[in-house]
Amino acid sequence: MRRRCPNPNCHREPSLLVSRTLESPRSRLIVRKGSFYRSRDRRFITKYFCKNCRRHFSASTHSPDYRQKKRDLNPVVAQLFSSGMSQRRMAILLDVNPKTIVRKFRIMAARARAEHEVRLNQLAKAPLSEVQFDDLETFEHTKCKPLSVTLAVNKKTREILGFQVSRMPANGRLAEISRRKYGHRKDERQKGWDLLFRALRLVVRSGACLESDQNPHYPKFIRRHLKNVCHIAHPGARGAITGQGELKKLVFDPLFALNHTCAMLRANLNRLFRRTWCTTKKPEGLIDHLSIYLRYHNTVLIRP
Ligand SMILES: [Zn+2]
Repeated sequence: MRRRCPNPNCHREPSLLVSRTLESPRSRLIVRKGSFYRSRDRRFITKYFCKNCRRHFSASTHSPDYRQKKRDLNPVVAQLFSSGMSQRRMAILLDVNPKTIVRKFRIMAARARAEHEVRLNQLAKAPLSEVQFDDLETFEHTKCKPLSVTLAVNKKTREILGFQVSRMPANGRLAEISRRKYGHRKDERQKGWDLLFRALRLVVRSGACLESDQNPHYPKFIRRHLKNVCHIAHPGARGAITGQGELKKLVFDPLFALNHTCAMLRANLNRLFRRTWCTTKKPEGLIDHLSIYLRYHNTVLIRP
C-alpha cells in the first residue's frame, strides 16, 4: 500500500516511493519504522518514516479518526444520535465523559455534511422530477423562541435532499409573552428558504413537480431559483392523533413522503420529541443533529 507523507511542505511527489537521489538510487523514500500498540482497539499500528523531510507518521495518520481516543465507539454513537437517545444517557451507557459525546457529535456532523455535498453532486447528474418540501416547527431553549426547519425530500424515495434552520418570532398567545421577556425576534425564514431553494437548483430537473402546503411565501422563492418547474400547493390537513401534527388523518395524504419524514424526525431525534426534557439550546446544535440524522436516514433507514 502506498503511503503519503503528511507533511504539506514535503516537496517530493506524494506517490513517489522510490528515490532517484544519487546517494541511494533505489532506496525507498518512505520506509517502515516499527509499530505501536493501540490498546483501545487492541491493534498494532505500523509506523513510517519519510526520508525526504525526516518526519515520522503512522498508518493511522491519514485516518478520519486520527487522534480520537475512543474511535471504536463512533459507529454506535452515530446510531444512537439517530435513535432518540440523549447525549447524557449515551455518556452513561457507554461509560465515557459527556464531553467526549459532544466532541463526537460535532465531528460527525461536519463529516455528514461533507458526505451530503458529495451526494448532492451525484444527484446533479440525474436530477429529480418530484420533490416535496415544508416547514417543521421546534424551538431553542423555550417555546417563546421558535425555530423553523425547512425540509425538502425526494417524493419517490423519501431521501432528505436538504434542510435549513431559521429563527422565527412566536405566534399566537406566546407572541406577547415572548416579546415581553426576550424582545423583538427576527424572522429569518426568508433567508432559509432562499438558501434551500438555491441548493435544490442543482438536483431538481427542468419540468419537475414541486409539492408543498399553501404557504403564501413559497412561490416567490421557487420562481427566484428554479426555472420551468410546476408548484402544487395542497391545502393543510389535521393530524391523525393529538400531538402528531405530521401524520395526517386523511385516507390519501398528497404530502405523505414529506409528512412521514417529519414524523420520523419527531420519533428519532430526542430534541424533536413532543413533550421532552431534551431541548435545543442553540440552533447550531439542531443543525448538527439534523446533519447526523440526515446521513443515517438516507443511508440506513430508507434503504430496503
Ligand atoms: Zn516527507
